[in-house]
Amino acid sequence: MPRAPAAVSEPLTPMSPPVRRIADSPRFPQTADVVVLGGGFAGVAAAYELAKRGASIALVEKGLIAGEQSSRNWGWCRQQNRDPRELPLAQLAVRIWGGIDEEIGDQTGFRRTGLVYATSRASDLATWERWGRIAREFGVDTRMLTASETAALLPGNSRSWLGGVHSPTDGRAEPELAVPALAKAAQKHGAAIAQNCAAREFETTGGRISGVITERGPIRCSALLVAGGAWTGMFLRHHGLRFLQASVKSTSFFTLAAPAVTEGGVSMEDVTFRRRLDGGYTVGLSGLGQLQLSPYGILQAKAFWETFKVRRKGLSVSLGRQFFDGPEALRRWRADGLSPFEQIRILDPAPDRRLIERGIAGLIAAYPALASVRPAASWGGMVDSTPDAIPVIAGVAAVPGLFISSGFSGHGFGVGPAAGRLAADLIRGDKPCVDPTPFRYDRMTDGTDLGKPGML
Ligand SMILES: Cc1cc2nc3c(=O)[nH]c(=O)nc-3n(C[C@H](O)[C@H](O)[C@H](O)COP(=O)(O)OP(=O)(O)OC[C@H]3O[C@@H](n4cnc5c(N)ncnc54)[C@H](O)[C@@H]3O)c2cc1C
Repeated sequence: MPRAPAAVSEPLTPMSPPVRRIADSPRFPQTADVVVLGGGFAGVAAAYELAKRGASIALVEKGLIAGEQSSRNWGWCRQQNRDPRELPLAQLAVRIWGGIDEEIGDQTGFRRTGLVYATSRASDLATWERWGRIAREFGVDTRMLTASETAALLPGNSRSWLGGVHSPTDGRAEPELAVPALAKAAQKHGAAIAQNCAAREFETTGGRISGVITERGPIRCSALLVAGGAWTGMFLRHHGLRFLQASVKSTSFFTLAAPAVTEGGVSMEDVTFRRRLDGGYTVGLSGLGQLQLSPYGILQAKAFWETFKVRRKGLSVSLGRQFFDGPEALRRWRADGLSPFEQIRILDPAPDRRLIERGIAGLIAAYPALASVRPAASWGGMVDSTPDAIPVIAGVAAVPGLFISSGFSGHGFGVGPAAGRLAADLIRGDKPCVDPTPFRYDRMTDGTDLGKPGML
């Protein structure tokens, strides 16, 4: 059996969910085969895969491991409703999740509980039915539910549903544990991890990656993986590279231990919740978020128009400080001066009180047995998306040695283990674990496929 986590989780900021803390590696490396920028799921999973295969790795994280999206998400690990272009990655990921704790000798909290989506809208059922026909061709176990089957899978749920969909092989894991556990596993394989250490820019020799300048000095390397979450676009723009990316603020909370109404995840029309290892629930508001106006948001508006049209009903728009200092601001810096990455160590947006109230009211209305639950902690998180809502996991042909794994568009926790494996395959030139074509970088520059979001 995997060992229990050695360290206790704690909030990284007064308003963030608890996360298991990871100690820095004792040595700050001056050379590495690969530098990984970013200590979220994308960076840590790739670092783990690469280190396991014998590469020397330096992972630099401007704040703390899993400080941003990778600890703030809902913990759903699903194939259900994934964009067909992303399905092979999602399928591989749930297979990896199934054996991950055994492999690393630690706990990610993964449980294959199945997930249920319930609706009173005929349009949702039609979408899931259409998606299911495609997904079954990939071999995904997804089952449409009648009204009575939905009710049977949601005991204690007082609402009446038109129907639903069930994905029995999907599951949930604990964001507070998963990425830190993988980071520890990467360290065991020799990866050096430096937190509070921003990468300011990369260097090239003869056009190829030859090093990364960090706030603690340069690291010589022949490959760089940019896995900077919401900040990837800003880092790449500094080097004249285009990466279309926009973020929406989402609000979530968790409850303390409460009566067991599900062991898995339940998505209702606007409230989504899943059971936690500690017996509480992590609750989110599907489709509801805040679009924070930003210079790059405005400059890239055309590329995101199709996605915006699908999502606009659930979005409020705001203008604030992020216009000047957020990841989509217009910023310039030099390698020998403070970069924007050092000025915001952890992107930590405030949760929206009205959404928390709406979420708790929706949960209690559906489940009278939860009438006494209250939010124990709440937080905001920026969900970064590409225009076509699937990530880039690819090399950049114009700069040999430069790789990107970013733009996970709200899916990067569930697909994280497979995304790490694919990035490692591409960096090492090994046979890719899934067809990497849908994730190519070129679509950011030639516009192919952009403007066509699949399942959001
Ligand atoms: C509220 C919410 C709910 C979600 N629910 C789910 C879910 O249920 N299932 C699912 O699959 N996905 C979900 N997601 C999405 C998922 O969390 C993300 O897709 C995933 O965590 C992205 O991982 P990442 O590594 O790309 O980014 P991050 O986790 O944000 O990590 C990027 C890291 O890079 C660091 N960094 C940036 N720039 C630099 C630099 N210059 N130098 C050094 N470090 C740098 C940042 O500090 C950050 O720690 C959710 C997201 C949110 C916010």
